[in-house]
Amino acid sequence: MKYRSTRAEEKTDFVTALSQGLAKEGGLYVPETLPHFGYDLKDIPETDFIHFSSTLIANFVNDSSLANYVEGIVQQAFNFPLVRKELSSQLSVLELFHGPTLSFKDFGARFLAQCLNKSTLEPFILVATSGDTGSAVASSLSGLKGVKAAILFPKGKISKRQEAQITCWDKNILAIEVEGFFDDCQSLVKQAFSDNWFNEKLNLSTANSINIARLIAQITYYAYQSTLYGHSKNKAINYIVPSGNLGNVTACFYAKLMGFPINNISVACNANKAVIDYLETGVYQSRPTISTLANAMDVGAPSNMERLMDLFNSHELFKSEVKAFSVDDEMIRASIIDMYDKYQYIACPHTAVAYSLLMNSRLSDSQQCIIATAHPAKFEQVIEPILDIKLPIPKQLDQMLGSAHNKLTISPTITALKKAISTHFQGRQG
Ligand SMILES: *Cc1c(COP(=O)(O)O)cnc(C)c1O
Repeated sequence: MKYRSTRAEEKTDFVTALSQGLAKEGGLYVPETLPHFGYDLKDIPETDFIHFSSTLIANFVNDSSLANYVEGIVQQAFNFPLVRKELSSQLSVLELFHGPTLSFKDFGARFLAQCLNKSTLEPFILVATSGDTGSAVASSLSGLKGVKAAILFPKGKISKRQEAQITCWDKNILAIEVEGFFDDCQSLVKQAFSDNWFNEKLNLSTANSINIARLIAQITYYAYQSTLYGHSKNKAINYIVPSGNLGNVTACFYAKLMGFPINNISVACNANKAVIDYLETGVYQSRPTISTLANAMDVGAPSNMERLMDLFNSHELFKSEVKAFSVDDEMIRASIIDMYDKYQYIACPHTAVAYSLLMNSRLSDSQQCIIATAHPAKFEQVIEPILDIKLPIPKQLDQMLGSAHNKLTISPTITALKKAISTHFQGRQG
């Protein structure tokens, strides 16, 4: 499998795409062609997620130096369960949040970290987080030999518990609080890639969903679960995916185009709706970020829009494939309450955005699977007052809350970022 940039024709292999993160001319790496799997997956075991995922991922790394390590990488990375719950005969939830930092970001971040671990790369990972990527990346890179990382998060815009999970790590991880929004953090990462200081001093890469490795990991659960569903119900599944930077939903579209039994994919957005504006107008424009209850989806300039527009490369095609909807905080609250009342299900605010699409029957299909992206306990300050309950704290989270916490605060400029990084890592070896 070769990769090309969304902005150039040149081809490269998986390890190069992984280590560069962003392509030289600023484009995003995409698979040159997607491998095709039929509905009938006789040669892939149905019941073993690790084996299934290894077989699938092998197609994406086959001519790189990691080809022989796939099964081990996947085993180490996906060391937590994938849980599907049936809320009714019409509605199921796929919970992706049972990893160490309690969001789906653990899949992509852990896979990326294990790939780095098996490679000879000794990168500096710069990552922007809207709340959950930071902890997933920090947790998976913490203590990894030769790897250093800086995590940029927007000051006061993430939950207290999300922040605690980002700021509790070792010396090879630096947590930086940026006076701005997630989009400012993401923009700093992109600026760093075209900055001489960063390129000369550091072996720079990123673990944001700019990095194609994240998306490859995320194809697996859609492929696996839709296959199981397809075998048992003899039909294709519909997914509703809570979306911000559009990485997770792009992975879902990849799985569909690879031939897995997926029917409609709905993109569920909070008040940040650049993708919906594009659907309506045919002109893509980034938007100022709006703060919402579903903070990990507060993205005004979603990076993976570029991959989606590359995949569906005319407005007409894009419109026929991508159905996107936006909901406000009022709907998020109402959804949290409705899910609890009807199904005794406690959803995080992001998962509730997906559920919102069902509340006013905006979707044509009656059977839906909602993607649950984070554990509600990360957002107790939102959930507890709305439902008037006390959420138990999962043990992974409890441990991180009890650790020592460190962070630096900077203004959203590349100069401030350089200073923070050079001061912290001066003379420090991997
Ligand atoms: C990151 C995140 C999202 C959005 O995923 P994208 O891949 O950025 O679209 C949704 N929910 C939660 C809990 C997240 O952490």
